[in-house]
Amino acid sequence: MPDKTLLPQLVGNTPLLYLRRVSELTGCDIYGKAEFLNPGGSVKDRTALGIIRAAEAAEELRPGGVIVEGTAGNTGIGLTLMANALGYQTVIVMPQNAAQEKIDYLEMLGAELLLMPSAAASSPHHYIRMAQQIAEGRAREEVKGAIWARQFDNLANRKVHYDTTGREIWDQTQGAVDGFVCAVGTGGTLAGVAQALRERKPEVKIALADPMGSALYRYYTDGELAASGSSITEGIGVSFLPGNLDSVSVDFAFQVDDDSALPHVYQLLKDEGISVGGSSGVNVAGAVALAQELGPGHTIVTVLCDGGDRYRSKLYNAEFLWSRKLPYPEWIAS
Ligand code: PMP
Repeated sequence: MPDKTLLPQLVGNTPLLYLRRVSELTGCDIYGKAEFLNPGGSVKDRTALGIIRAAEAAEELRPGGVIVEGTAGNTGIGLTLMANALGYQTVIVMPQNAAQEKIDYLEMLGAELLLMPSAAASSPHHYIRMAQQIAEGRAREEVKGAIWARQFDNLANRKVHYDTTGREIWDQTQGAVDGFVCAVGTGGTLAGVAQALRERKPEVKIALADPMGSALYRYYTDGELAASGSSITEGIGVSFLPGNLDSVSVDFAFQVDDDSALPHVYQLLKDEGISVGGSSGVNVAGAVALAQELGPGHTIVTVLCDGGDRYRSKLYNAEFLWSRKLPYPEWIAS
């Protein structure tokens, strides 16, 4: 008899891909967790399912209820797919400058979508604050109730990475992992994996790879939440300390600009057939930096957060890259 597998069961248990070029470059074994293979195409499927299961367990989410979230897109995609599978509805609030591909996909999935112009994180018009307000309103109106997923502060986010991503990395490397590095959007991945690995191997090194425009690099290096510059990467970089990062320390923090991240995206695709988005480029650049800190012979793991097809209109659009004075390979222009 075939297994009666349902969609939520496809989340997680992703392969660990050996990244040949950066491994040869550094003399370390560098692996990328292939999160783009999740059913919604990103690492955020784990968070979506973790948050839904925790809300069900707390009896906050009732059958037919509404899940509201502010997201750069991937959490919205994960939540909407899981909601469709489990009998909920979603209201997704996104920044309007997110890649059109993610907006189109969310429309296709049937999410109720609200696009917000960019605003300071403290503004009531910021997409995260907007999601909170909508959730509060819907909770009063909807017969079947509504919840705000609150991925930045909801600790079900880092818990799911502690229970799954971190444990999987440990098992897949058979405990050989010496270092883990990734960028932060909500901090769920970094916090959950760090906790799972440190419990099993206290000497493991945990590193942050922070894009320009994010305040965390300064926070971890001199205690001040301050940002400079900007990045075209999506889903990473914050101007505040998310609840999921509360009391999480890192051993190293690296700042990665787009000029350093994008060549990894293009080289992974061209030389190794691995298609990823911009945040994975930041992560791979972070893995190279961590390898250089630790020296040859170490095993380093990072995350391939989502796929490159989701950013075709940006990462594979010569005009867009040119307008931002970013590097792009010749094969994109021709
Ligand atoms: N990369 C992408 C493309 C994302 O959408 C996210 C989630 N915001 C991340 C990285 C960061 O993951 P986390 O929220 O666990 O910090």
